[in-house]
Amino acid sequence: MRWQGQQLGVADAAALPGLEYLNGLVRSVTTPEFAGITFHEVMAKSALNHVPGGSAMPFDWTINPYRGCSHACSYCFARGTHEYLELDAGKDFDSQIIVKINVVEVLRRELARPTWLRDPVQLGTNTDPYQRAEGRYRLMPGIIDALTDSGTPFSILTKGTLLRRDLPMLAEAASSVRITLAMSIAVFDDELQNALEPGTPSASARLDTVRAATEAGFAATVFLMPIIPHLTDSMAAIDEALRRIKEAGATRVIYGALHLRPGAKEWFLQWLAREHPELESSYRGLYPGASVNAPKAYRTWLARRVRPLMRAYGLDGGAEDDPAPRAAPRSAVRYTGLAGGPGAGGTPLPHEAVDRARLAATVVRTSRGRRLGPAPADPTLF
Ligand code: SF4
Repeated sequence: MRWQGQQLGVADAAALPGLEYLNGLVRSVTTPEFAGITFHEVMAKSALNHVPGGSAMPFDWTINPYRGCSHACSYCFARGTHEYLELDAGKDFDSQIIVKINVVEVLRRELARPTWLRDPVQLGTNTDPYQRAEGRYRLMPGIIDALTDSGTPFSILTKGTLLRRDLPMLAEAASSVRITLAMSIAVFDDELQNALEPGTPSASARLDTVRAATEAGFAATVFLMPIIPHLTDSMAAIDEALRRIKEAGATRVIYGALHLRPGAKEWFLQWLAREHPELESSYRGLYPGASVNAPKAYRTWLARRVRPLMRAYGLDGGAEDDPAPRAAPRSAVRYTGLAGGPGAGGTPLPHEAVDRARLAATVVRTSRGRRLGPAPADPTLF
């Protein structure tokens, strides 16, 4: 690893925030309760990360107490960041977890600076703050306390059901600062979820957490993303997802099609070749070469499926790439997803050919039978 065998105290310009100095590494830990996982405990230099001005992210500050994520989603866009540490973006990302053990102490110092303007802070934008490691290290309660004490509004996005542990303190904190909670649930079929996101709790367990957040007084958002071409984008799958989200009490949904960034792309395509080789040629059409985003035409097609169903279920929200002002008001920071940017646009979709015949004869209905009108077939696509 990059930090081994180098001089103490030497800045590493390529290191992740908080890992710039090699003397930050305290120890590496393995334990029987977390078989196959190594925790690298580090002393971080910083806790608040400033998002660069040119970023597509609609917020300015993030906190990431962990690097790497045992939730192990094949499509995870943060995989490439592990390569800065000379760890790989595949198995190492899932199993070599960097833990900023002093993050709370550093955060409190940063929040106490007179220059801190209490801009909204986002947690869960890079790696998951409620991944399994949080059960061992319990960093989030201290982070929540520090942000609340300083009057800083914040948002949490997670796939982790461990969020439930902190709901009582979050509910109390919400009387002092604005807090928004979002649960990410991409896959509602248990078998597919186990294959694609082997370290995550089931969709049912995550929906139960949404329910608990709602009962604790939060208007919870669900990130229905990434929607995965051919695997989770059928009318039946989207309808089931939105119905269950609504039943769990969520008020908003943000949806988005799969992104395949460098690092994640190689890993996901390996997974696809193993699990669904019949889809490989279709994905070569959807994500050719180094392209990251699904084509604009696919995203338009997806919107025509998702939006009428969201309306039918009375769910607010929209697509992750809907236009949104970067500088959201401090009192009303808006979730718009994990990544944005224009799509590749306009290419014919091998994906569409599969569904064409079915769509031509389909009327969109919710699973409760409500008729919404003709299926969203765009003549430019078929
Ligand atoms: S939970 Fe989020 S951060 Fe963790 S592996 Fe999945 S997508 Fe990546």
